[in-house]
Amino acid sequence: MLDVKILTAYPEMFPGSLEHSLIGKALKENIFKISTIDLHQFGIDERMSIDDEPFGGGPGMVLRPDVVEKALNSIPKTHNIKSTKIYLTPSGAPLNQEKLGNLAKMEKITILCGRFEGVDQRAIDVLGFEEISIGDYVLAGGEIAAQVLLEGCIRLIPGVLGHPKSLLEESFSNNLLEYPHYTRPKSWEDSLGKKHDVPEVLTSGHHGNIKTWRHNKSVEKTKNIRPDLFNKKEKKQD
Ligand code: SAM
Repeated sequence: MLDVKILTAYPEMFPGSLEHSLIGKALKENIFKISTIDLHQFGIDERMSIDDEPFGGGPGMVLRPDVVEKALNSIPKTHNIKSTKIYLTPSGAPLNQEKLGNLAKMEKITILCGRFEGVDQRAIDVLGFEEISIGDYVLAGGEIAAQVLLEGCIRLIPGVLGHPKSLLEESFSNNLLEYPHYTRPKSWEDSLGKKHDVPEVLTSGHHGNIKTWRHNKSVEKTKNIRPDLFNKKEKKQD
């Protein structure tokens, strides 16, 4: 069972999206468990402050290293020793499918969710947090980012997906984006009366042609939308 601990100033945001759909089922079936550690319980002074102004000036507040350390130390040592520690931050290494695959093999993960301007760098360096970003944009806090990372990781744990074969052809396997999908009706008439048919090959029943069509569509889409990914694929084949 994957054991996840979340250090957060907003514990009420969990499990959030993680208790729904297939991931929620995995939670109920104890494929993973999740518990939160409220940073406010480890605040200092009579106001239980968890943050302070940045040295050097500038806007916003920064999470204090002593608060993060106390919160982390409240987790049993048996967890901390074996756990991968992640601090979610826009300035971290970009999250990708390969990283999620590696995380899905872990037994214990600890995630630190930042707020405000972020976290004192000493806490990240000294306490051994790996910095990961979920994309080139800035959210208000790490809680949604943690749910993104966990959802992506948990769906890769064997037994979570109803159709594990779907993992083999989905986007990013082989550095390609997935081909487009179509379902019923075969001919769809939109509200303006215009007809849109499903590509004929998909209803031909010819598996070889369908496979080739899908591969070509994957390549075309990847070249257009993600040339960086396509170049990676080409380089790998050289
Ligand atoms: N001052 C930071 C910067 O410019 O890099 C942004 C801080 S952001 C407003 C507050 C918190 O949200 C961060 O500490 C982090 O935990 C989380 N966060 C925001 N965007 C994120 C992203 N793209 N990936 C992961 N975490 C993110």
